[in-house]
Amino acid sequence: MNAWWLAHAGPTRLLVVGALLLVLLLCQRAWPTRGETPARGRRWRNVGLAAVSTLLVYLILPLTAVTFAWQMTTRGIGLLAVVDMPAMLEFLAALVVLDLAIYWQHRWFHVIPQLWRIHRVHHSDLQFEVTLGLRFHPAEILLSMLYKFAVIAALGPSPVAVAVYEILLAAFALLTHADVAIPHAWDRQLRRVLVTPDWHRVHHSVYRDETDSNYGNILSLWDRLFHSRIEQPRDGHRGMQIGLTQFRAAPEQTLIALLQQPLADDLRLPSNQ
Ligand SMILES: [Zn+2]
Repeated sequence: MNAWWLAHAGPTRLLVVGALLLVLLLCQRAWPTRGETPARGRRWRNVGLAAVSTLLVYLILPLTAVTFAWQMTTRGIGLLAVVDMPAMLEFLAALVVLDLAIYWQHRWFHVIPQLWRIHRVHHSDLQFEVTLGLRFHPAEILLSMLYKFAVIAALGPSPVAVAVYEILLAAFALLTHADVAIPHAWDRQLRRVLVTPDWHRVHHSVYRDETDSNYGNILSLWDRLFHSRIEQPRDGHRGMQIGLTQFRAAPEQTLIALLQQPLADDLRLPSNQ
């Protein structure tokens, strides 16, 4: 089982992301919430940034999260190596704890000014649509991977749990940024446990208090538990403005400009605006 995932985790994730991206692009056409026409070249820029980020991290880091987890478990390192739990419970606990760790990673990327400079590349997109789920600066992907290594070393999850979590995280990045209208009754039930597009759209509001909320990636539970949830955007899902108050001009949205954006001055509004 572990051997299969060590060899196939990367290609499986790529396949899931590619297939889900196509399905969600079709769903956005059929059942949009905002239905904005994507700005010219925007989708390709987001895909291009994902390609650059993936390639750079692949070239810089000798290990993936899955191979690192294998190295830790074979050495008996991590909390789960010393506690005796049924395999299925251990697997589920690993998924939940990894999601909790990524919630805090996301929150720290908002709170710590140097990290925000990197993460704001994701927030400076002016449209909320599925390819936004691919738009992350290479430095964020790299730091996120190093943070995951630290969490894996402390927790000691199985490579299978890490592989499954990595696939779920990538899938939810697409699902939660999709401009797909889910019936309100369904959304109400789903958001009790999971992050939905309506739940996450609030996080991409131009208002800072809304941007600094709804940090969850897969489970919405963490925002409820740590008091960071805003149920609905105050201007409504169709009326709300997406993005940041800065970086709204076309020259600030090119692929080169996005790669340089962490170095630009931070003109972020205070948190009560
Ligand atoms: Zn964010």
